Amino acid sequence: MIKSIDATSIHRITSGQVVVDLQTAVKELVENSLDAGATNIEVRLKEYGLTSIEVIDSGSGISPDDYDKVGLKHHTSKLQTFEDLSIVRTFGFRGEALSSLCALSERVVITTATSAEAPMGTVLELDHFGKVKSRSSKVARQRGTTVTIEGLFKPLPVRRKEYERNSKLQLGKALNLLSAYALVPCAQENKGVRLSVYHQPDGGKKTLQIRTDGTATVRASISSLWGPKQLENLVELDLHLDVSPEKTTLKRLQSVDTDTSTKVHVRGLISKFYPGRGRTGTDRQYFFINGRPCNPSKIQKAFNEVYRTFNANQSPFIVADFILPTNACDINVSPDKRTIFLHSENNLVAALKEGLEDAFSSSRSTYAVQGT
Ligand code: ADP
Ligand code: MG
Repeated sequence: MIKSIDATSIHRITSGQVVVDLQTAVKELVENSLDAGATNIEVRLKEYGLTSIEVIDSGSGISPDDYDKVGLKHHTSKLQTFEDLSIVRTFGFRGEALSSLCALSERVVITTATSAEAPMGTVLELDHFGKVKSRSSKVARQRGTTVTIEGLFKPLPVRRKEYERNSKLQLGKALNLLSAYALVPCAQENKGVRLSVYHQPDGGKKTLQIRTDGTATVRASISSLWGPKQLENLVELDLHLDVSPEKTTLKRLQSVDTDTSTKVHVRGLISKFYPGRGRTGTDRQYFFINGRPCNPSKIQKAFNEVYRTFNANQSPFIVADFILPTNACDINVSPDKRTIFLHSENNLVAALKEGLEDAFSSSRSTYAVQGT
């Protein structure tokens, strides 16, 4: 017999795809802060985030007219029609993060103030459906928003157990993803954001895990994230690729002689070949598509493959932003927005390999550490 699933269960099922683990929870909150134009973002994690996750920003704040909608599923201030999706520049557009966090945690509290109200703010507590459960006005608050999540995944006991078991690993992953976000604003027009991340274990002291300077360039952010040593032997990446569309019968019939190739600009930093020494891991490799952190596995593989033909045993440090027309990629592939569908991806990978090989071999002296 086919029966419909009750609303609460549906909400939990779909929310569990948006917020998968600690890193996606923190990512969604930081994305909201960046979308709100914050220049100062502080993340506070208590006991690996198991106790609470708090993100404090200096963004636009939430206007009182939006209080009732902020936590509701598919309610967003960033996208109105499906067509907007091809030009969207904000990180968020699905209107699902806050609603999912409400469904998946014990308690969600938002404190917010817009410039009209500042320095006074409003505290909203949301229920599991993202509805405002209680509201108290007039707390001291500068313009901006604080979102506090307590007891993440408590409504999903299996996932909570998994999180408790792996909390150290999850914190590591979250910090790594936050590092990528610390590099984003620099990748985009050098708009600096001051990002501070603290962790406080139960009964322990609060320690600073990440801090970037608000006026930072990519190099300065790299230095604050991993120390000035990481800057040694980094060289600029600057490739212009012409990616021809993948040939399907339909396309061949439709466009025989029109040039529909996509121009892709790859810019960033990569470590020089360093025979016999250097890092061997692939953990410090950060990829962005139009400034959006993502995991393009084929692109990452291409980088490592080409690099290894020049430097057999090491993987490079990479920060690479792929700038391409927004209609050449689809960011709405997975609810967590970490997978991006690239049109003609195979041709892009082939062009990238060729571009890297050319760059590495034609200016070997630039890419190789001298005297080794
Ligand atoms: P989305 O980001 O896809 O719009 P969210 O569920 O993440 O969906 O957020 C819902 C809405 O709440 C956003 O569209 C935005 O208007 C508002 N919002 C959420 N977080 C913040 C924030 N930190 N500052 C200002 N507005 C916010
Ligand atoms: Mg969002």
